[in-house]
Order: sequence, then C-alpha cells, then structure tokens
Amino acid sequence: NEELLINSEKLYVAGQLAAGIAHEIRNPLTSLKGFLQLIASGRKNNGTYYDIMNSELDRIEDIVSELLMLSKPQVYDLTYQDMRVMMRDTVTLLETQAILHNIAIDAEYGTDPLWIYGVENQVKQVFINVIKNAIEAMIDGGSIRIKLSREHDCIYVRIRDEGPGFGEDQLAKIGQPFYTTKEKGTGLGLMVSYKIVDNHQGKINVKSEIGKGTLFEIMLPFRYPESVVKKTS
Ligand code: ADP
Ligand code: MG
Repeated sequence: NEELLINSEKLYVAGQLAAGIAHEIRNPLTSLKGFLQLIASGRKNNGTYYDIMNSELDRIEDIVSELLMLSKPQVYDLTYQDMRVMMRDTVTLLETQAILHNIAIDAEYGTDPLWIYGVENQVKQVFINVIKNAIEAMIDGGSIRIKLSREHDCIYVRIRDEGPGFGEDQLAKIGQPFYTTKEKGTGLGLMVSYKIVDNHQGKINVKSEIGKGTLFEIMLPFRYPESVVKKTS
C-alpha cells in the first residue's frame, strides 16, 4: 500500500514536470510558428525575425539538453574518477567565460586523490551548473572560491561566490523546475544538479546571505577504486 502511495506521488511529480516542460517548450514553439507565418506572408525585414527565431530555438535546445541529463545513466557509464581532475577540467572550460565577466576563479584542490564512483559527464555537469550560476550572479565581477576536501568517507566540494545572495523565500524555490530569475534562464540547472547528486548518493547544501554571496556545498561519497589498487600492487 505504501508502495502504491509512493508510486502515485512519483506519477504526480512526473505529471507536474511534464506539464511544466510542455508549457516551457510550447511558448517558443508558438512564437516560432508566428514568425514563420509572418515570413510566409511575404513581409520585409526577415532579418530581425531570424534573430528572434534563432533565440527561441536556442531556448528549446537549452531546455531539452538540460532535461536529457535527467535520463538514467547506464551501468557501463559508472567509473572511478578523481574529483580534482574533473574540477580542473571544469574550471578550464569556464575560465574564459569568467574572465569575460571580470571574475577570477580560485581553486584549492588539496593533495590527495578524491575518488568517486559515478558518471563523469553528469558530475561535471553539476560543477558547470553551479559555477555558471555563480558567474551569472556576479554582475560586477569578483572572485569565485572553490575548495575540495575529504572528511572520512565524504568528499566536499565548496563553491563560494560574492554575488548578491538571496533570502529564505528564494532558497525554498531554487531547484524547483523552471524557477528562474533570469531573462534567459531555464530554471532547470539546479533541479538537474540535485537529481544527479541524489543519484550518486550525495547531497547539496546551500547557504546564502543577501549582499554577501552564496555557498554551494556538494557532498559525494568517497569510493576507493579497488580495481586500480589490484592492478598496481
Ligand atoms: P537558471 O540559471 O537557468 O536560472 P538554475 O536552476 O541554475 O536556473 O538557478 C535557478 C535560480 O536560482 C537562478 O535563476 C537564480 O535566481 C538562483 N541562483 C542560483 N545560483 C545562484 C547564485 N550563486 N547566486 C544567486 N542566485 C542564484
Ligand atoms: Mg543555471
């Protein structure tokens, strides 16, 4: 009976999500259709239509690619990864974007390997989503501080920004599908990140203070790569 209840709850959540997705994708589709009709009617100035159409298509693309991250990883995608390497790759990927926004990324990786067992692209996606949000939040520039560490069986990834921060009311909303305060946001990045971390038996904590900044703390289980040990010993 309890199982049935849980199932119907899951169905309810899936239904809510589906309704949200359908709505978010229908808007740009409706607008694309409108512009196609304008073009078909032979009006001049098609150039400006194309720009808007392109940005509507980009929006659909953003939504769909973020949602794809929610699809279940296959067993063969699971590998032992050193989080320091994954974070270095991510920082390298985002560095140009940060510099363009007058932001310095300053990362402390520690000295020991921080092994996790997981899906590399998904965990990297979590780092990307959180760091991108930090970059987007710091409109006046500043620095993003990243620190990786391990306590017993838990790896901590702390990402701190000097953005505007937010209050309790907004804290409750972040991570809900389609909650965004950005003109071009999808409001899916954090929902997807929470889901990925949850799938990896991890947790995300958020602390934020208005006017000071925000701290995202991602915790993932440390998993020693036994197969590697056997090969090298
Ligand atoms: P999106 O980035 O597309 O808006 P997200 O799920 O990544 O969607 O983030 C949801 C919202 O959470 C953002 O629109 C923003 O209002 C808030 N947010 C997330 N990270 C931060 C941050 N580091 N500082 C301030 N606000 C943030
Ligand atoms: Mg985001």
